Amino acid sequence: MTKIVSHWIGGKAAEGASGTYGPVTDPATGEVTTKVAFASVEDVDAAVAAAKEAYLSWGRSSLATRTSILFKFRALLDAHRDEIAALITAEHGKVHSDALGEVARGLEIVDLACGISVQLKGELSTEVAGRVDVSSIRQPLGVVTGITPFNFPAMVPLWMFPLAIACGNTFVLKPSEKDPSASVRLAELFSEAGLPDGVFNVVHGDKVAVDRLLAHPDVKAVSFVGSTPIARHIHTTASANGKRVQALGGAKNHMLVLPDADLDAAADAAVSAAYGSAGERCMAISAVVAVGAIGDTLVEKIRERAEKIKIGPGNVPTSEMGPLITATHRDKVASYVTGAAAEGAEVVLDGTGYTVDGHENGHWIGISLLDRVPTTAAAYRDEIFGPVLCVLRTETYEEAMDLINGSPFGNGTAIFTRDGGAARRFQLEVEAGMVGVNVPIPVPVGYHSFGGWKDSSSATTTSTATTARTSTPAARSSPPAGPTRPTPRPASTWASRA
Ligand code: NAD
Repeated sequence: MTKIVSHWIGGKAAEGASGTYGPVTDPATGEVTTKVAFASVEDVDAAVAAAKEAYLSWGRSSLATRTSILFKFRALLDAHRDEIAALITAEHGKVHSDALGEVARGLEIVDLACGISVQLKGELSTEVAGRVDVSSIRQPLGVVTGITPFNFPAMVPLWMFPLAIACGNTFVLKPSEKDPSASVRLAELFSEAGLPDGVFNVVHGDKVAVDRLLAHPDVKAVSFVGSTPIARHIHTTASANGKRVQALGGAKNHMLVLPDADLDAAADAAVSAAYGSAGERCMAISAVVAVGAIGDTLVEKIRERAEKIKIGPGNVPTSEMGPLITATHRDKVASYVTGAAAEGAEVVLDGTGYTVDGHENGHWIGISLLDRVPTTAAAYRDEIFGPVLCVLRTETYEEAMDLINGSPFGNGTAIFTRDGGAARRFQLEVEAGMVGVNVPIPVPVGYHSFGGWKDSSSATTTSTATTARTSTPAARSSPPAGPTRPTPRPASTWASRA
């Protein structure tokens, strides 16, 4: 029997009035397992009305009340990690350990929300003039909304709603229609934790639901995570409708490997960052830039590791990489690999045409590794969002930096080197929001800012004098002590040919 996923409005499941449904597929089998209700304008209006009604009391509730519900939600989420991870695997396809990691990263944000009282203290200046004090207080906005992508069906919603609700807002979430079950389970758990009805609502659907949220006069702020073209649409439309908006977009993340890097560590990092979650991560490394003479060795080290990745259903414990989200997406990813040679790349590993025995209808693709990819090739230019790693080669650090900074995307990036001066220079010169030093996926912890630059983030409408960025140096990858340690070189060494 096909499962039905309903909206969650006013503290209970609501099938909605549209009578329209979308299919949800198990990517490992290709079978439609679930029907998800698609919201009409009226369904969205019902969710916003429930949130507006709930705001009347939630917006005035005490910090103590909000915090105690958040602590209970945290405990429930912790207790249901496995169950939520299984829901993610069944609809997204990622392997269970990866799905558990996603829930863990979401929990970090609930931890942060549990301590929101510290962040909401406000400010006071005394005697700014004779017997005059000035204070600033923080107030909730009202009804706010989040629109989220398929690739992290629990984590990205958890980036948004716990903090917004902890601050006294009420929330309408529009999760991805491709894997909607985890978000409803989160709503049920929050309700079980004592959240009043209407404070957190979930509406499913497509552009109809999203565009109504962007236009609704009672929605005060919009948070979006997804692809760059949709981020632009969200930013433009929500801003034109007078809402606060932040919209994070797509990515093409580069990993720069300098000649002095530990190439085994760099290859391990490239393989896990490029092929983890089948490359369906906004922080995946999709381009490695090898500087100097290390290219052949590095490509060989990546190839021998990548070939060993075990591909299979996400709920089988031995699987290390699952299928892609849809057959259409799989075919699009494959087209970049089949077209790469004609565009001048060397195809080292070709993952197209891969299947898993007994699961022939799953959305499978194997590992692809493309070497000496020209910057003009579509496989380099576009965000592929699949298990395809491009390797590019340059002679110098400067050439590599021109290449990386020439990309329209600027989400995350990483440098692999043993040279602290080079790492510091890279950190300051590279045009990306999140920078890793010997860390391939520099996703910051929840209490630091997360966000890309350039086309990876449609600018927020709140103005800031500087753009925040996060750097993550890794202690674990620092060079070994002892005689094998290379002599540190000044950063300017990299200005000459390596
Ligand atoms: P998407 O842009 O297709 O969809 C995101 C959301 O927008 C979904 O809820 C979807 O229903 C909705 N949507 C889709 N088309 C729409 C339209 N025409 N009008 C209004 N709403 C629409 O993204 P996706 O395929 O679900 O997710 C993958 C993308 O998300 C990748 O580009 C990835 O890089 C990006 N992403 C970015 C980050 C980040 O932090 N920058 C994090 C995760 C994913």
